[in-house]
Amino acid sequence: MSDSVDSLRDHLAPINDLESAAAVLAWDQETFMPDGGAEARARQLSTLQSMAHEQFVADETGELLDRAEEATKQADPLDDGASLVRVTRRDYERARRVPSSLVAELSKATSEAKQAWKKGREEDDFSIFAPHLETLVDLSVEKAEAIGYDDEPYDALLEEFEPGLSTAEVTDTFETLREDLVPLVDAIADRPQLDDDLLHRSYPQDKQKQFGERVLADLGYDFDRGRQDVSAHPFTTSFSVDDVRITTRYDEEYLPSAFFSMIHEGGHALYEQGIDPALDRTPLADGASLGVHESQARLWENHVGRGRPFWTHYFPQLKDAFPDALGDADLDSFYRAINRVEPSLIRVEADEVTYNLHVMLRFELERGLISGEVDVNELPARWNAAMDDYLGVVPDTDANGVLQDVHWSMGSFGYFPTYTLGTLTAAQLMEAAEHDLSNLHRRLAEGEFGPLLDWLRTHVHQHGRKLTAPQLLDRITGNELSAEAWLRYAREKFGALYDLSQSPSE
Ligand code: ZN
Repeated sequence: MSDSVDSLRDHLAPINDLESAAAVLAWDQETFMPDGGAEARARQLSTLQSMAHEQFVADETGELLDRAEEATKQADPLDDGASLVRVTRRDYERARRVPSSLVAELSKATSEAKQAWKKGREEDDFSIFAPHLETLVDLSVEKAEAIGYDDEPYDALLEEFEPGLSTAEVTDTFETLREDLVPLVDAIADRPQLDDDLLHRSYPQDKQKQFGERVLADLGYDFDRGRQDVSAHPFTTSFSVDDVRITTRYDEEYLPSAFFSMIHEGGHALYEQGIDPALDRTPLADGASLGVHESQARLWENHVGRGRPFWTHYFPQLKDAFPDALGDADLDSFYRAINRVEPSLIRVEADEVTYNLHVMLRFELERGLISGEVDVNELPARWNAAMDDYLGVVPDTDANGVLQDVHWSMGSFGYFPTYTLGTLTAAQLMEAAEHDLSNLHRRLAEGEFGPLLDWLRTHVHQHGRKLTAPQLLDRITGNELSAEAWLRYAREKFGALYDLSQSPSE
C-alpha cells in the first residue's frame, strides 16, 4: 500500500476505535447495565460518538483522501487501498453535506420522538406521537435535500443503508413480489392449518441455551471471538472481527423464539467474523449493506434452520434435550410446526411468508411520507387498510398497528425495505450455492455446514464493504436483485407443506 493510503488508514483507525468503544458501551447498556446507569451512559455514548464524528468530518480527512485518491487511481477496484478510498470518500461526502445544525436538530428530535412513541404505544394513542413524527419527516426531507438524490428524496435516505440501490428498483422488485405473494398467502389460508401445539410446551431456558449454543458452534460461530448474552431485543454487534457478540431472549413456553433468533443473529455474526482481518479497524470492516447483512441472517435462519435437512440432523438431539416436551413428536410434525404460516398483526412475530407483506406496507407508507403523498395524520387509517388488503387482518389498536415498531421514532426512513431485500438476496445466494456445491442438502442433513460457510466466506463475507450489494449479486449470480428466486423457493416449500396442488378445502 502506498504511503498516502497508509496515512489515511492511520487517521481512520483511532476513529474506528472510538466507534468500537461506543459499541461496547451500547452493548453493555442492553445486557448488563443497571437501570441507574442510564443517564451517565447516554453522556458517555454521546461524547464518544461526537468525537468520532468530528474527527471523521475534519478537513484533514478530506486532504488525506485527496492524496490517497491520486495514489490509487490506477489500482484494481477490489484492491484494499482503492476500496478504502472509495468507501471512505462516499461516507465523508455524505457526512459533510449534512450541516451540523441539522445533525443536532435530528438528534434532539429523535430523542423526544422516542419518548413520545413509547408513551403513545403504552397508551394506545397515536396523537401523542404524531407531531414528533411530522417533525422527523420534515427534518429527514431536509437531510435528503442536503445530501442530494436522482429522482426522489427517499433515494438519499435509502442510500444510507443500501448504497447503489434506487427507490424505483426497490418499488419494481416489491411489486413483482406482491403480485405473487398475496395469492400465495390466500391459497395457504384456504388449506387446513398446520398444528404447532408442540412448540408451546415447556422448554427450560438452560436447555435452550445449551442446545442453541451447540448448534451455533456447529454452524461455525467462533465462541473464542464472540459470546451470547440476553437482551430485551436480540441483536448482533461487532467491536472488531475478533469480537463479534450476539444476544437473544428466552420464552420457556415457546421454543422457536430463542432458537431461531439465535440462528438469525448467528448468521449476522458469521458475516462479521468472516470479514478479511486485513480490513479490520477501517470503514471496510462491515456488511456491504443492511440488506446483504440481513441476507446472511435469513439464509441461516430460514433456508438452513427451517429446512428439513437441518432437522433431519438435529431433531433426534432436540428430542434428547427436551424429552418431556417432544417425547411423542416426530420429525414431520416438528418440521410442519416450525413452518406454520398465519397472517398476524405484529411484524417481528410473523412467519417467513407473511413477513414480507409487513415490510412492503411500511416501505410504501414511509416512501409516501417522505414524498408528501401520505399525511402523518392519515397514517393509522392507511396502515389498517393496507393490513386488511395484504394480510386480511386489521389491528384492534394502534399499539398493535402503526405504533408497533421503533424505527420511525428514530428517524430511520429507508431501513424497513432492507429486511425484505435481505430475504430476496438470501434466496438468490442460496440458489447460487446449491448450483456450486454438489449435494448441499445431503451435507446439511449430515450436519456438515462447512462447505456452505466456506462458500459464503469466499463470495460474500471476506469482502466487507469492498463491493456494494448490486456488485456482489452480479458477481455471484450474474443477476440483479429479483424476487423470482424467493418466489420459487416459497412456492416449492410451502406448496408441499400446505399441499397447494389440491383444490381448496371446504
Ligand atoms: Zn437481522
